[in-house]
Order: sequence, then C-alpha cells, then structure tokens
Amino acid sequence: MQLVDKAKHQGSRKRLVLELQEMGIESPQVLDALLKVPRHFFLDSSFEEHAYQNKAFPIGTDQTISHPYTVAFQTEVLTLKKGDKVLEIGTGSGYQTAVLFHLGAQVFSIERQHLLFDKTKQLLATMKIKAFLHYGDGYEGLPEKAPFDKIIVTAGAPSLPEKLFAQLAIGGMMIIPIGKGSQIMTLIIKTATSTYKKVEFDNFNETNFRFVPMLKSKQ
Ligand code: SAH
Repeated sequence: MQLVDKAKHQGSRKRLVLELQEMGIESPQVLDALLKVPRHFFLDSSFEEHAYQNKAFPIGTDQTISHPYTVAFQTEVLTLKKGDKVLEIGTGSGYQTAVLFHLGAQVFSIERQHLLFDKTKQLLATMKIKAFLHYGDGYEGLPEKAPFDKIIVTAGAPSLPEKLFAQLAIGGMMIIPIGKGSQIMTLIIKTATSTYKKVEFDNFNETNFRFVPMLKSKQ
C-alpha cells in the first residue's frame, strides 16, 4: 500500500479546516488533528478527490466514513485530555480513530464487520497509529478494559446502550447519536453509577447527522 500526502492534499485539508471553523468548530487541538490526518488515506483511491469535501463517503460493505464536520463535532464535545481512555464504537475506516490518536488519547475501538476490521487494522498499522482494535459487537463494549473516560459512538443507536453506560467512568462523557430513523446527537455526562446529565444537540440540519445504524452481533 502506498500512502502519499502531497502538497495538494495538504492545501485541500487546510481549506476543509477553515470550512469547519466557519461551521463553528473552535478547539485548536481538534482543528490541528484534522489538519494532520490525511483523510484521503481512509478512502478508496477512486474517491480521493472527494476526501476533503465535507461529505460522508462509502468505505465498503455498505458503510460510510463520517462527515468531517461530524468527526470534528463529536471529538470537540468530548474535550479530550492527553492520556484519556477513549472507547470508540464503529471503527469503520479508522479516520476517527486516527484523529483521537493525534489528540493523545489511548484509543480502544470496536468494529462488527470483519472485512472492515481487517482492512482498517492493516491501514492503521501502516500509518503507525496505535490503537487497541477489537472485532466484536459494540453494544457489549469492552468490559475488561473499562472504565473509559470518554465513549464515542459513530453509528446511530436506538437508545442509550446500558452496557456502554456501565463502562463509563463517573465524571466521564459519552457522545452518541440516539434515535430510530433519524438521530439526535446526545452528550451523556455520568454523574454517579446510575445517574447522568443529558445534553441534546438538536440544532443541526439533518445532512450533518445521519448515521448508519448500530447493528447487533458480529458479521
Ligand atoms: N468512525 C468511523 C465511522 C464509520 S460508520 C469512521 O471514521 O470511518 C459506523 C461504523 O459502525 C460502521 O463501520 C459499522 O460497521 C459500525 N457498526 C455498526 N454497528 C456496530 C456495532 N454494534 N458494533 C461495532 N461497530 C458497529
């Protein structure tokens, strides 16, 4: 696999980051991570020219890489600190994983589709991005690695997955699109073992937040 990051890619990335800033992303750390991670490495080369448009794109087996805005938004809301233990549900292309890694997080990520899991594992290893990648059902989480400071769910869940909430540290945060059909981006802040505060971000237009469904079991 040949991964080349040319000046034209870097220029397009700068434009994308400016666009995201205009859309309201403020965190310098998040913007910097988006500037550093070559998004075109995560798309099939036939889609390379689309890599720096603010769009979701196919990554095989009916899945999509999230919109750059969605990645930026979900990451920013989590206010990551270096060394935070972060669980990602839906590794997909690995792009979000790479962004979390660049922010200094210790990343654990679960993907239920074997083909995608294999492909992304290889890509991230080639890019020297260290993350604990797990093939399994995201609804189960990773109890043996819990608790997590932050959890980021990148597929749409019909309701708050109980096992994931249980694996969140007290004081920890989970960002998750919740809803059947269409979803509302929701931030869960765990205040005690069984209590939480909820913030719903319902002021976005639908094209920004439409997620592939979080499905049960492995494939
Ligand atoms: N974070 C990804 C987004 C991929 S789209 C990226 O940056 O590219 C959502 C992903 O969630 C898909 O790859 C899909 O296969 C995966 N997914 C869906 N249900 C899941 C589940 N129950 N457990 C783990 N992954 C799941």
